[in-house]
Amino acid sequence: MTTQEYMELGDKYFVHTYNRYKIVMDKAKGVYIYDADGKKYLDFASGIGVASLGYGNKKYTDAIKSQIDKIMHTSNLFYNEPAVLAAEKLVKASGLEKAFFTNSGAEAIEGALKMAKRYAYDRDGKSDHEIIAMGHSFHGRTMGALALTGNEHYQKPFGPMISGIKFAEYNDLDSVKALVNDKTCAIILEPVQGEGGIYPADKEFIEGIRKICDEKDILMICDEVQCGMGRTGEMFAFQNYNVKPDIIASAKALGCGVPVGAFVAGKKCCNSLVPGDHGTTYGGNPLVTSAVNAVFDIYEEENILENVKNVGAYLEEKLDELVNENKNIVLRRGKGLMQGLVLKTPVGDTINKAIEKGLLVISAAGNVLRLLPPLIITKENVDEMINILKECI
Ligand SMILES: *Cc1c(COP(=O)(O)O)cnc(C)c1O
Repeated sequence: MTTQEYMELGDKYFVHTYNRYKIVMDKAKGVYIYDADGKKYLDFASGIGVASLGYGNKKYTDAIKSQIDKIMHTSNLFYNEPAVLAAEKLVKASGLEKAFFTNSGAEAIEGALKMAKRYAYDRDGKSDHEIIAMGHSFHGRTMGALALTGNEHYQKPFGPMISGIKFAEYNDLDSVKALVNDKTCAIILEPVQGEGGIYPADKEFIEGIRKICDEKDILMICDEVQCGMGRTGEMFAFQNYNVKPDIIASAKALGCGVPVGAFVAGKKCCNSLVPGDHGTTYGGNPLVTSAVNAVFDIYEEENILENVKNVGAYLEEKLDELVNENKNIVLRRGKGLMQGLVLKTPVGDTINKAIEKGLLVISAAGNVLRLLPPLIITKENVDEMINILKECI
């Protein structure tokens, strides 16, 4: 079949929830992806922040291959070695206590939501608790995660949403305070908002939320699905601040390509879910957790966080130069290798031009050009990206 025929067949058989680019991706190596016609693309999207180790890392692929030959699935009725080791790594990296593996980011959010509700139920025996989420947030597409997502466009056709969710303004602590009451059981935020337009939390804001949560026995949940796993230069984005959340949700780069997520909870609430309260058939199976183990090992051996700090600083510098030179760019926002350029116009055209010239970038919030490169990129890759981008904006 030709490339064109594959795309037509896909359009015939997929539920049409994505307007895909007219490209069939075929293979990848390092920080480059190749389409089925052999065209090469520099990847500054990582499959939406997933492929943090790039493509074809031998240690990573070997780990998965050897696990496939051993055992792929056990169910959670039994222990399996990779899941145990991966839970330990996740707990140590986050400084929290206990982990629950899921298959996606949305499911990690669902679990965090249930844990928070259960914690509050144990506290006062009621089940009418409220959760404060942020405007312009994104937490996923399942009904619970969608209810927390501060985007009316995503929610409206699917109402009614689960009740008891209130929205505050990101980086506006007073707007959070105004919503807190005796029913509040959790406050959820992304330490750096992703889909909403690459907004890092102000120090006063995120630390202020921790303070409110401490005072009122409210759980602080950080959605680290996009900004976690090293993307900001710390393993988790909250570690850039002087706070420790009660629960974090992780996914995307947690498995660097295999579908895996997790929620990880601290001392206060990690025992509030008990046998029978929550479950998953696939979650944390040996296939995906063998990948998680390899990811943590490779991050350490290859000094990934160090690279994010170095190359991230260089990327910021180069982007700031671009902002100064180019009147179509309003400003840059971001942290580490999670960067956004706010453009004066919608970003669709720019992205199409970039893809045409062999550079993959994505959008956020309509007018933000979002850069989420693999965390292994070099300064040379940044120069290569800037040279292409210059011609597209
Ligand atoms: C992508 C994303 C999710 C949802 O993850 P899925 O794996 O697509 O379900 C949740 N939160 C944030 C911040 C995300 O970026």
